[in-house]
Amino acid sequence: MAQKIVAGNWKMNLKLDEAIRLVEVLKINHIESDVRVVLFPPSVYIDTLSHRLDDHIELGVQNFHAEAKGAYTGELAINQIKSVGANIGLIGHSERRAYFAETNDILKLKVDAAVSQEFQFIFCCGEPLMIREAGEELDFVKMQLEESLFHLSKDEMLDRIIAYEPVWAIGTGKTASAEQAESMHRAIRTWLHEKYDEETAQSVSLLYGGSCNHENARELFSCPNVDGGLIGVASLKSEVFCEIIKSY
Ligand code: PEP
Repeated sequence: MAQKIVAGNWKMNLKLDEAIRLVEVLKINHIESDVRVVLFPPSVYIDTLSHRLDDHIELGVQNFHAEAKGAYTGELAINQIKSVGANIGLIGHSERRAYFAETNDILKLKVDAAVSQEFQFIFCCGEPLMIREAGEELDFVKMQLEESLFHLSKDEMLDRIIAYEPVWAIGTGKTASAEQAESMHRAIRTWLHEKYDEETAQSVSLLYGGSCNHENARELFSCPNVDGGLIGVASLKSEVFCEIIKSY
């Protein structure tokens, strides 16, 4: 059974004092539920925040390097990240693909590094507007998954997390409709079934991301193949993020 997950991607927002205030409010307001909550703050805050959070909220990184160590100025290795209290990272966010030239091949290396170092990840995929307008979104997303993720074995794929984030919906205020989200999620579940098997397909959590907020979360999360959300701007306000969690 896929886990229900609500994750907040803070991107390059919030100063440390604002970040601390946000997690303090989340800690107070986040009611106990079976939803797994993960925050992706700027990496420099992980150590500080990890000492302020209880077990109900996890911390992750927005990016990491595939190499274990070496001359990669500005980058972070998985063992460094683990040493400050984070055990999960994003792979393939559309902003990393677009602004940092992360190709499907580079993302595959990150997937392999994460698997071999027992580091969890949320693999992000999603089509740009032009592709959606051409009606080619299914082929496009399938290719992203095939080139970076679907080489994993069944054991390696069990319980993984995939976030479908149509690029045209990220930070634009344009949410995919529940039907659009469900249709892509259903397709991903079907590909997992075809490539692996039903057990694997049902074990993978499929998150939706793209202008998800407290007003549309309930409808999106009620789709049978939507197992949660990856939330950007709406995760920066504690009361809004709490409402999104509670709307599951
Ligand atoms: C994201 O960056 O992963 C995201 C979904 O952003 P937003 O919710 O702001 O569209």
